[in-house]
Amino acid sequence: MNVALEIPRPEAHPDIERILFSEEEIRTRVSEVAAEISRDYAGRKVTLIAVLRGSVFFLTDLARALTVPARIDFLAISPFTPRTQPGHQPGMVRIIKDLEESIEDEDVLLVEDVVDTGLTLRYLLGTLNSRLPRSLAACAFLDKTPRRLVDVPLGYRCFEIPDRFVVGYGLDYHQLYRNLPYVGVVKSEVFRG
Ligand code: IMP
Repeated sequence: MNVALEIPRPEAHPDIERILFSEEEIRTRVSEVAAEISRDYAGRKVTLIAVLRGSVFFLTDLARALTVPARIDFLAISPFTPRTQPGHQPGMVRIIKDLEESIEDEDVLLVEDVVDTGLTLRYLLGTLNSRLPRSLAACAFLDKTPRRLVDVPLGYRCFEIPDRFVVGYGLDYHQLYRNLPYVGVVKSEVFRG
């Protein structure tokens, strides 16, 4: 016999100051953006390129909500110096895992977790563009507009956020919190250790 269990909504993690976007809000918004992408790419195949590791949660939800055929490939990047180290320069990244397939003549959609200064996205779009895709656009889960240093073309975005460090739904702080199903602001005492 199947018994329908009432699953209680999880409380926010003790390190989280407040939840910005709940699981439900994320699901709804990702579906809306997927519908927009499906309309724009109607009649074409889209190649989704996700940047490891933060974009993986967004990619899998987005891909499943698309109605156009989609290929999936991954890139991994690493800053030249760790984000938390003095002397770290945002946007100074290198590819540490390249795509498996050629993107020449493909309709490519780069899937990003969060666009902050925009430097990483600018680097990635430049790199991918040099591989001669038929078209190239970017889709971000979060857009932290107040911190933008360079103008980057963002075709799609789910949410605009203020200048706060957020985690969850793929986003981490020291590799933790990625598996939270919501997006939340980390308490300041967590940064102080
Ligand atoms: P950008 O080059 O400054 O746009 O940096 C983008 C990258 O910084 C993202 O792909 C994330 O890895 C990281 N990042 C920026 N803001 C946050 C945040 O609030 N939480 C987690 N990671 C972030």
